[in-house]
Amino acid sequence: MILDLKDDLKAFREAVRAWVHETAPPERAHEWHIPKGPELVDIQRWWLAERHKVGLAIPNWPVDYGGAGLGLEHMIIITDEFARARSPGNDMFVISMNHVPGTLIPHGSEAQKKRYLPGVPAGELWCQGFSEPGAGSDLASLKTRAVRDGDHYVINGQKIWSTNSMYASQCLLLVRTDPTVKKHAGISYLIMDMNSPGVEVRPIRKSNGASNFGEIFMTDVRIPVENLIGAENNGWAVSQSTLSSERGVLSFDGAERDMMFLTDIYKQARSDKAAWLDDPEMRREFITMFAEMQASRQQLRALLQEPHDGGFSMTPSLVKMARTTLNNRIGAFRSRAEGVTSQYHDHTYRAPMYEFLETFGSVISGGSNEIQRNLIAERGLVMPRG
Ligand SMILES: Cc1cc2nc3c(=O)[nH]c(=O)nc-3n(C[C@H](O)[C@H](O)[C@H](O)COP(=O)(O)OP(=O)(O)OC[C@H]3O[C@@H](n4cnc5c(N)ncnc54)[C@H](O)[C@@H]3O)c2cc1C
Repeated sequence: MILDLKDDLKAFREAVRAWVHETAPPERAHEWHIPKGPELVDIQRWWLAERHKVGLAIPNWPVDYGGAGLGLEHMIIITDEFARARSPGNDMFVISMNHVPGTLIPHGSEAQKKRYLPGVPAGELWCQGFSEPGAGSDLASLKTRAVRDGDHYVINGQKIWSTNSMYASQCLLLVRTDPTVKKHAGISYLIMDMNSPGVEVRPIRKSNGASNFGEIFMTDVRIPVENLIGAENNGWAVSQSTLSSERGVLSFDGAERDMMFLTDIYKQARSDKAAWLDDPEMRREFITMFAEMQASRQQLRALLQEPHDGGFSMTPSLVKMARTTLNNRIGAFRSRAEGVTSQYHDHTYRAPMYEFLETFGSVISGGSNEIQRNLIAERGLVMPRG
């Protein structure tokens, strides 16, 4: 068993590497990096199941909740080896694997933990219903109403931009339970079964033709009171745990994969004898991005090692801005470098223009880059507001 080798990091790394190469060989990478939608859900669910068989699906979760309690040094090895092997990603299960434990472990009841946490490595897909048409950056303005009726809440309202909501069976839902108090004080946090009567999901089509988020309309949806996470009207505090669970390993996985992506762009250009390799400006641009990617990975390693003492740190905002703007520039570079013909055919990844258009979303999601700048300026550097 791979986990039996955890005290010998070198042997652990070799075992992870051998396992990933055997289970998801790099030569097959195009099979998991090009599909989208339901096909991608199936691929990633299969990958999660394979990992679960050897204890590598949720190895950083506490032992009490099905994990192996592994620490940072092991997660770095696993993430690194998975990225190097160009293995399938986790992105369809990001909410399930990060936000769900990040919320339920500190705030959920024992019954909720027992009911929902084992479903995650088994492939249960969750979505996050926070944003609304009038409540994004100013999330506390949310209006989706929950009214208590006996042992249920009755929900009416609308959510938007909910990633993978069309494939999800459960939703982390923020609702307003008390409209008479200050906006942060009247919010509660519920688990909503997406198959409940009155839930309708309408996918939103993006500029690259993909639909990986949707609107959720709720009409008289009944949610049992036992699905309340934390106390009624204390949902804002609970939501802060959900939002901060993105910090760390999740971004780290993305950064390691982005580094491999950049390396593959170069390798492909070499093998295709691409014209941009003879252009000094383009070469300079590529090397600059390569250096920035390395800096971003180092910044992330520093973030992972920062103590979680509850104090404010600028590093998550700095990392988020650096990574998302860099990915956007890489997307633009690749579209320019690889030209129009490459839009229809690709080797390991999706077509350049598709990927380029995809990069605009992450500049906004998880707190837009303007909001990150505000945080850095006001809370980090204590600059005057205005
Ligand atoms: C790819 C993607 C995935 C997402 N997934 C989810 C999900 O799964 N679940 C979910 O609940 N939500 C999700 N969202 C929604 C996301 O959280 C919001 O889009 C984001 O918080 C911004 O809110 P908004 O779209 O309402 O824009 P607004 O808040 O209306 O902002 C509009 C513009 O004004 C700027 N702005 C706003 N306030 C300020 C300010 N105070 N100072 C300076 N500039 C400001 C913003 O930066 C932005 O450019 C996702 C969004 C994207 C793009």
